[in-house]
Amino acid sequence: MNKIAFMTIDVESMYDSELLKDRMKYDPKYSYECYLKDYIDLLNKYNIKGTLFVLESSIDKIKDIIKYAIDNGHEIALHGKNHVSPLEQNNDEFIESIKESKEKIENEFNITIKGYRAPCFGIDDNKIEIIKDLGFKYDSSNLDFHLAKKSGKINLENYKIENMSVASKDGFYEFSLSRVKAYSGHLPVSGGGYIRLVPWFVMKYYLKKYINHADSYVFYAHPFELKKGIVPTNKELNWKEKLYLKVGRRQYLKKIEYLIKYLKKKGYSFSNMNNYCSN
Ligand SMILES: [Zn+2]
Repeated sequence: MNKIAFMTIDVESMYDSELLKDRMKYDPKYSYECYLKDYIDLLNKYNIKGTLFVLESSIDKIKDIIKYAIDNGHEIALHGKNHVSPLEQNNDEFIESIKESKEKIENEFNITIKGYRAPCFGIDDNKIEIIKDLGFKYDSSNLDFHLAKKSGKINLENYKIENMSVASKDGFYEFSLSRVKAYSGHLPVSGGGYIRLVPWFVMKYYLKKYINHADSYVFYAHPFELKKGIVPTNKELNWKEKLYLKVGRRQYLKKIEYLIKYLKKKGYSFSNMNNYCSN
C-alpha cells in the first residue's frame, strides 16, 4: 500500500489569526510571514515538495521567499484575498475576491493556481461548486472538528474515497485535514495551533496512533507559529489568549522535523497536492 503525506502551510500574517483580527494594531514588523523561509528550508532538507496556500494580502511582504519556494519546486495555491471566511461572504463577493486574488498571484509569479483552502476552513457545498466553476482542481478546507467554531461542512457522501485524506468527484479532489479518535470525540492531528498547544507527549501519542494506521496524512502550519521567542500581545487579550500566542513556539519546527522523520520511517512518501491530482 502506498502511503502518502501532504505538507502544507497557510501563508498569512499573524494578525490574520482569528484571535488577533481587528484587536491588535497592525505593525508589519510583527506579521511574521518571513518565517515561511524556515518551513521551505526544512522541506528542502528532506527533498519534500510542499503546497503553500497563499493570501494575496501577504505577497508584497515576502515576494522573494515565494519566488524561492517556486524555484525549489513547491506549489503555490490560494488562501484568498484577505482572511475573510467564505461563509461570511455572499456568492458575488466570494467569486469576485477569488477571481481577483487568483489572477493577481498568478500574474505576479507567472504560475497557474489549481488549489484552494478557505480562511477559517469556512467552506460548504455551495462554495465548493463555485471553486470548481472557477477552474480549481482541488480544495483542502475540510476540517471536521467540533471546536473549530468557524469551520464549515462539506458533504462527501457522493465522492469516491481515494484514501483516508482524499476524496474525489468528477475529477475534483477534496483533501481533508487529518484527525484521530480521542476520548469521546476527535482531535485534529494535522498541525496548526493544535500541534503547538497540546502538550507534546499527548500530541506525539495521537500523531503516532494516526500515522501507524492511516494511509495518508495532511499537515498544515502558519509562518507566525515558527517565530521563536516573544511575540507582542496587548491589554485587550485575556490570559488564555496571551497563552495561545506564546506557547510552543521554540520547539515548533523541531516537532515538524520529528513528524517528517516519523512519516518517512513508517513508509510514507510526500507529494504536493496538485501533482497528486494529476497522477
Ligand atoms: Zn488562514
